[in-house]
Amino acid sequence: MENIIIATKNAGKAKDFEQIFQPYGVKVKTLLDFPKIEDVEETGETFEENAILKAEAISKKFNEMVIADDSGVMIDALDGRPGVYSARYAGEEKNDEANNEKVLKELANVPEKDRGAQFYCAIAVAQPGKPTITVNGICEGSILFEGKGTNGFGYDPIFFVTSMGKSMAELTPEEKNTISHRASAMKKLEDQLTEFFHRS
Ligand code: IMP
Repeated sequence: MENIIIATKNAGKAKDFEQIFQPYGVKVKTLLDFPKIEDVEETGETFEENAILKAEAISKKFNEMVIADDSGVMIDALDGRPGVYSARYAGEEKNDEANNEKVLKELANVPEKDRGAQFYCAIAVAQPGKPTITVNGICEGSILFEGKGTNGFGYDPIFFVTSMGKSMAELTPEEKNTISHRASAMKKLEDQLTEFFHRS
């Protein structure tokens, strides 16, 4: 079985990727499997820049192909915030509940019609001796008035997925990984990395 390294310590993302890679018979390893590896500083101004920073730094360390995902939620009524700051919106401790509470508070007086939002995901693939590839994916939705559902991670409970009529946290992992921003980016990657992605 082939291994693929995903440059993340986010357990929620790790689960999404495990599920996404299941049909390919690929075993997903993340930085949770290599706790001694230090975090890569996300100094970029865009999701793409940060994904490239993470993929290239970790690929250099392992001298292997590495995938990195930089993602977040962009809220129309907040002019696209929290965006690249999604993980640490309510503070450096990267607390999902605190992040959701902060967003709900900021949107307390925003009517339903103005609560549009998008999940965005940039994926970078760095390989030794080859140019880095990037793809992106979007999932359209809106911000609920309170959290719903217990699946997923991050902003999933407060993000209503337009195409499914449910919050992201109410979807099963299989459903989420069919329609999510991450799944949509991965589909584009599949088209570019055909030699790697052959379904078993
Ligand atoms: P990153 O690790 O810097 O890319 O930060 C990603 C952050 O964006 C996560 O910590 C979540 O707050 C948010 N996020 C990204 N993807 C998702 C998702 O699929 N569901 C919920 N929140 C997400």
